[in-house]
Amino acid sequence: NLAVELTGICKSFGDTVALSGVDLLVEKGEIHALLGENGAGKSTLMSVLFGIYRADSGTVKLSGREARIRSPKDAAACGIGMVHQHFRLVPSMTALENIVLGQNGGIGAIWRGRGWKRRKAAEIAALCERYKLSFPLDRPVWQLSVGEQQRIEIMKALYRQCDIIVLDEPTAVLTPLEAESLLETLGELKKDGKTVILTTHKLREVMASCDRISVMRKGQLVRTVRASDTNEQQLAEWIMGRGTAGSSL
Ligand code: ADP
Ligand code: MG
Ligand code: MG
Repeated sequence: NLAVELTGICKSFGDTVALSGVDLLVEKGEIHALLGENGAGKSTLMSVLFGIYRADSGTVKLSGREARIRSPKDAAACGIGMVHQHFRLVPSMTALENIVLGQNGGIGAIWRGRGWKRRKAAEIAALCERYKLSFPLDRPVWQLSVGEQQRIEIMKALYRQCDIIVLDEPTAVLTPLEAESLLETLGELKKDGKTVILTTHKLREVMASCDRISVMRKGQLVRTVRASDTNEQQLAEWIMGRGTAGSSL
């Protein structure tokens, strides 16, 4: 029961080979970590899935059907939401405005009046409660903490009813407390049957929060394992390309 099947994905930027034939299978409803050093190709792979980059070759299947994702708009239409490493929020606008932006009639809808705004605020507040996300709805985003801004990005995906949520290095910018709160939200997403893919280079947190882990190294997917079937030392060896076991799959 696969949510995402990436097969034979290749992508080069000029002379730089970012991905050389990556196969990644993500099951429906799992939290899947893409683990690897800087430059391993994690963001590029997720950008291919999200339609930011077009792969040189390879195929993408969603729920067993081939998907042609040529732009982030296509990805959104396929139910994929992406939380980028650097947020893509409009700083002068409120959280509520950022969340509804481009949805339900677009920016114009924001000015539809108080009744509309109140209904949207209630709708988003209910989602916040359900997924344990907290942030002020009515303050300009530039005033908010990094953790709050990230929650708004997650809410943007949930508001769009995405069932595949990709987070690129989500904990890199967070304090330990904020990271804990993010893990709680991931737990709620999983309970709700959402599929989550997150990239990271932090070993410890994947052991605590993910169902399966795929290790990438130098543009290749080295191995996919259940978190319960591995340990930090083994993962570290795969990340660095040491050890006898599993330098290729
Ligand atoms: P990771 O997310 O695992 O740190 P990336 O996917 O960002 O790795 O990068 C993989 C490789 O591709 C790196 O060598 C990086 O420099 C290169 N790369 C990524 N994006 C671009 C780009 N837009 N132009 C040129 N090279 C890129
Ligand atoms: Mg990087
Ligand atoms: Mg990256």
